[in-house]
Amino acid sequence: DSGRKPRFRSVLDRMVSYRPSRSAGPARTGPVFQLAANESPYPPPSAVVEAISREALRTNRYPDNGCADLIAEIAARHAVPEDGIAVGCGSVGVAQMLMEAVAEPGGEVLYAWRSFEAYPILTRLSGATAVEVPLRDGFHDLAAMADAITDRTRLIFVCNPNNPTGTVVGEADLRAFLDRVPVDCLVVVDEAYREYVRDAKAPDGLDIAAGRPNVVVLRTFSKAYGLAALRVGFLVGHPVVAESIRKAYLPFSVNGVAQAAAIAALRAESELMERVETTVGERERVRTALTDQGWTVPPSEANFLWLPMGDAAAAFGEHCGRAGVVVRAFAGDGVRVSVGSPPENDAFLSAAARFRR
Ligand code: PMP
Repeated sequence: DSGRKPRFRSVLDRMVSYRPSRSAGPARTGPVFQLAANESPYPPPSAVVEAISREALRTNRYPDNGCADLIAEIAARHAVPEDGIAVGCGSVGVAQMLMEAVAEPGGEVLYAWRSFEAYPILTRLSGATAVEVPLRDGFHDLAAMADAITDRTRLIFVCNPNNPTGTVVGEADLRAFLDRVPVDCLVVVDEAYREYVRDAKAPDGLDIAAGRPNVVVLRTFSKAYGLAALRVGFLVGHPVVAESIRKAYLPFSVNGVAQAAAIAALRAESELMERVETTVGERERVRTALTDQGWTVPPSEANFLWLPMGDAAAAFGEHCGRAGVVVRAFAGDGVRVSVGSPPENDAFLSAAARFRR
């Protein structure tokens, strides 16, 4: 009977599988620059590559399920207790652990929109209801978010800086917002791009979380630490909270190569942070050049820029793809372009200049 198939949860009917932009299109033959995924444009420092090679000889064995060495290294680096840390397969993996730990049908997950696309995907998978509060001029509207909290709210994401707009919420505003959140509701401050922030008003989430048991901070090795392919992220929070979240860990999901590379990356931090400085400089250079071309580009505190161009977004994205520069277009809304190496950024700038408006 060809009509019969296994039964799936009905939430899947309304979902499509996640397809990040990767290719410049089938017709492209010349060089392709990847500015669509907010990655570091630089390969890992040699000490990290050496750590990866050493660990490669042990891939016949399961890794340390508890990630003890990595957690000790993170704890020392950030001066936080080891038992307040949980690691996962990318920070997206940690966000999934958070969902597994707190979200279920009947509950609500609250976040600003537009923001990181994993939030609606993970929320739908959990069966909980997504409550999306529109950004206001590209910024989190924390007052409206606080008004949207109900007794069903289980999880709140504050993406700081926000992907894809690059905007930050200030420390005073975040603290005032958190004062309005009931303590039985968990707040995730997603700081995937923290290392690129230069605005002194932006809080360090770790300071904020230190005094609040219902606040956790999400960090990643995928951006500033240059390990996107290896999938390591972590959260820092109250030990009681971290312990509950660790129960949702998919066994062995942070592999041994990833653990070794993340430790080596923390030890090579000064080299990596010099690259971050270069990226921050490039961010400002690209923004100024785009503004000179006549584009509206809000200031960004992350390693990407946001071009709110509304209906032109899809055509602009295709135009860049034909020029060999892969950017992230959100049809009808805007285009997000990652800050790459200087030649990559120049290729993007020249494509942007050639777009017919
Ligand atoms: N949070 C935000 C805001 C992001 O933009 C991303 C990556 N695009 C992530 C988390 C996830 O990164 P990863 O899973 O690679 O750690």
